[in-house]
Amino acid sequence: MVDNPVEPQLWERGHEDGLRAAFGARPLCVTCVGRLFARVGRGLSNRERGERALSKLRMKQTNDCWLCRGLVDEIHKFAGLVIDELSKWDLETFLVGCKLDPDLLDREEVLWAELALRTYEPIKAEINREVGKVVEARLGKSADFNRPDVTAVIDTMLDHVEVQVAPIYIYGRYRKLVRGIPQTRWPCRWCRGRGCENCDFKGKMYEDSVEEIIAEQVMVDAEGQEHSFHGMGREDIDARMLGKGRPFVFEVQRPRHRNLDLVSISRRINRGGKVDVIELRPSNKLEVISLKGRRCDKTYRITVCLGEERSLQKINEAVKALIESEIVQRTPIRVVHRRADRKRIRRVLKAEVESIQGATLQIRLRTEAGTYVKELIHGDEGRTRPNLARLLDTQVEVVELDVLEIHDGDRDG
Ligand SMILES: [Zn+2]
Ligand SMILES: [Zn+2]
Repeated sequence: MVDNPVEPQLWERGHEDGLRAAFGARPLCVTCVGRLFARVGRGLSNRERGERALSKLRMKQTNDCWLCRGLVDEIHKFAGLVIDELSKWDLETFLVGCKLDPDLLDREEVLWAELALRTYEPIKAEINREVGKVVEARLGKSADFNRPDVTAVIDTMLDHVEVQVAPIYIYGRYRKLVRGIPQTRWPCRWCRGRGCENCDFKGKMYEDSVEEIIAEQVMVDAEGQEHSFHGMGREDIDARMLGKGRPFVFEVQRPRHRNLDLVSISRRINRGGKVDVIELRPSNKLEVISLKGRRCDKTYRITVCLGEERSLQKINEAVKALIESEIVQRTPIRVVHRRADRKRIRRVLKAEVESIQGATLQIRLRTEAGTYVKELIHGDEGRTRPNLARLLDTQVEVVELDVLEIHDGDRDG
């Protein structure tokens, strides 16, 4: 079915004289005339509306436009500039915006006020739409008003196009197979990242981080400008992260490429042997928010060293007591300088002794989200109660700690 443009009634009867006087004083090009009636009827372009309006008013067309001063004839030039910029980026969808001369916008307001019409469309909307149509046709990509991959903003005064590129997000789970690696880059505490003798002019406290190991491969392929790492919590630097790994979302800002070969990327990351990643897939900003809000139980394996050896029976009793009590924890000494001193109550959901060799024990614990596990073991000068040291009546030192599992999603496993 073809839309036959219905002849629209552009204005109410009796307005002709007023319009003739207005266009006489301030001549407008056909398109600018038509735009004043943009919201009347359907199926016509502003240019066609303008042609009809002027012929009804028996007025001549002019190119010398008081309002746009020829801007509407530059659509193809602007589209060309936009296409040049957009061609540099991988994209499926785009959006066109523009910055116009403020004087032009003032003139437009004056005109609207004077004519007291309610049927106009702003010139900005027309330029965005018309340039968008040309770009859509020439690039074969579609405009998206909500979440475009790339937005091109034309500065019509400078004939310059600025692009805003939406970030890409990659979900995955990481395992940290060695100790001594922070999750994210840790700037040098002396120079705060500028580089000094203390950090061997690297600007950071640790050579590697999970983020940087992953970034090294992702950024090569994405050719992004910056990156951010969003982990579902984090483990201590000296703890390994094993099992199914820890969920994260890796964000790339201003990526030149958006469709990445995630299989190849994970293969290259995993070759390094320090950190490996599984289940990489495309993600989005909403997932970052939900990931940050998740609270999950965790299972740990902890190697501890007792001040004095204890009998198997005594050890088993102590471990059992941990499961049966509420654990009251004041903010640990190691973090109280940056966090409020509060009490929290957590539970140990499972606890078992895996091995005993003299004064060295291996214990496996499943705890609720947010439990301070090291403090649960050594007691933190009595700030965590009960604690394993108190229950065994000897000093207990945490030698090694690994996160074995983050129980996201599974109810009981
Ligand atoms: Zn004009
Ligand atoms: Zn430094």
